[in-house]
Order: sequence, then C-alpha cells, then structure tokens
Amino acid sequence: MPKNDTQRKNLWRKILFTKDNFMETIPFDDRDGVIWFNGEMVPWREARLHVLSHALHYASCVFEGERSYAGKIFKLTEHSERLAMSAEALGFDLPYSVAEIDAACIETCKQNDIIDGYVRPVAWRGSEMMGVSAQATRINVAIAAWPWPSYFSPEARMKGIRLKTSDWRRPDPQTAPVMAKAAGLYMICTLSKHAAEAEGYDDCLMLDWRGQVAEATGANIFLVFDDGKLYTPTPDCFLDGITRRTVIDLARQRGIEVVERVIMPGELKDANEIFLTGTAAEVTPVGEIDDLKFSVGKITQWMMEDYDKAVGKEEAKDSGDDEAAA
Ligand code: PMP
Repeated sequence: MPKNDTQRKNLWRKILFTKDNFMETIPFDDRDGVIWFNGEMVPWREARLHVLSHALHYASCVFEGERSYAGKIFKLTEHSERLAMSAEALGFDLPYSVAEIDAACIETCKQNDIIDGYVRPVAWRGSEMMGVSAQATRINVAIAAWPWPSYFSPEARMKGIRLKTSDWRRPDPQTAPVMAKAAGLYMICTLSKHAAEAEGYDDCLMLDWRGQVAEATGANIFLVFDDGKLYTPTPDCFLDGITRRTVIDLARQRGIEVVERVIMPGELKDANEIFLTGTAAEVTPVGEIDDLKFSVGKITQWMMEDYDKAVGKEEAKDSGDDEAAA
C-alpha cells in the first residue's frame, strides 16, 4: 500500500503503463463532458460536493453500474428500480421517479456521445446535517457516463481470472442492508480486492458470514459440476445481480438446469467450470481459486456467447464496431 505521495505516484505510474485502456487512467474528476446533477447537466469538472456531505462520513449513499452496448443501456429500468430499492433500504426516497432516472441516464449518454460505455447513477445524503441522524438532509442524485470496454482484459478473460479467498466475509442480513447496492458495503470489497491484488490475484472469492460461498467483490459466481447443471449460491446475503438473473434465464433457454443452493468452499474442488457474472465483468471465466485450477468449459463459453448476444454485442460486431466487441 502506498504510504506517501511518492509511493502513490509510483503506483499510479505502474497502473498508467500497464493498463491497456487509456481512459481508465484519466482521473475521474478531470474529464471532458457533462454530468447530470440533480436534474441539470453540469460541466464534468464542476460536478462537485462539499467535504461535509453526510454520505462521505456515514456512507449514506447508493449507486448503480450499467452498461450501454451499441447505444442502448442494457436492462436500464431494472437498474433504475434497484437504485430506488437501494435508497429505500437506506431509509430515503429518490426525488425522481424510475422513469425520470431512465430518461436522465439516456440523456447523459447522448450528451457525452457514449455508444459503448459505463453508466453510474449515484444518490446520497447531502451536507445539511452532520451526525448519525440525518433525517432532513437533501437527497442528491447524479449520473455520469464514460466509455469503458472490458473490465478484465480479453486475454485474462479467456485464460480465466485468478481469485483468492478473502479473509473478509459478506455480512449477515441482520448486520447490514445486504440487498442494497449501498456504498458502505463496498468497504469490505475494496479491502478484499486490494489484499488479493497485493498477492498477484485478479479478484477474490468472498464467503458469507456462515462460511458459505457468496460472490466476488463486484460479481456473482456460477459453478458447473459433473452432472452438467449450473449451480449458484442462493442470494440471501449479497446482491442478486441483474446479470446473474439474465444468465439464469439464458441457461434455462439452452435447456441447462440451474440450481440455487448453499455451496460450501469444500465443493469448489469438484467444479469443472466456474465463472463470474456482473454488469462490468459480464461473463468472466475463473481459472484459479487459491490453489485450485479450472478450465474454461463449454457451458461457460455458451453463456459468454449468449450474454454477448443478449446485450447486443453481436449486432455491434456485425456493424464493424470493434470497441463493443472487446
Ligand atoms: N455483487 C456485487 C458486490 C456487485 O457490486 C455487483 C455489480 N453490481 C454484482 C454482484 C453483480 O450485479 P449486476 O449483475 O447487477 O451488475
């Protein structure tokens, strides 16, 4: 971990020269474009908030992660609905309807010329009150969008990414609002992912508070055993991803039986294929978990293909748009 400015700069340089996607390396507060901010488009660099914002101190913040493929945001309304549900789970109502958020996401992409990109709506308690109780704070909503091809590089995807089991666990639903896409829940994800990256892994596998297999830091997990069925943990203490639900539907359309049940870490050694699903990760094969190795099998490849088709990547490929096909 960087301890001072020089170490931080060196880490930044390392990231800058090793990432293949230049856009990822431009600081997020210093880009061109506009951001939808409480109902208005503001210049990108002016979309700022005060240091005494409740969300910054007390994590009263929810967000979404969406992707636009060939000019269309995949499952847009499901994401806007989840944003509203997450806000409600944190005790606040969004000052905009789901239809208004949908329209604002589309407009943000349009005004930033985003065809294939990532969309980030965020809602948070403002700076009117500072303290644990914050009943009268304004609820702010912003939406940013930027070009973003693949979360994991295409080579890493086909080899399968490497996961390390995290020491941190997904909390009990009585400890935190686990169904919400709430900023506070990502504290353990960042801690876990940094620990995994420090040992050369791509991401980590998180167990839940009971020691059952849960998910990765930003994606759900699927496994294929000898019986050829697709298994995934029951989402009772982590996000039931929109991609997860899409992949379950796609698998069933292929005639593959999908089983949601408790999966214990001891069962991982019996899996023939493992993959992750998420808006950013899409369908990403897993090649290793700790000292176990897995190959990229037939069902994983089918799900990658079917998902690419479902999101509209195939259309983009046919029309010669390489970026969307990355
Ligand atoms: N789990 C976590 C912790 C996530 O951050 C995400 C990404 N939103 C997912 C799972 C997958 O969710 P989705 O498929 O809706 O992107």
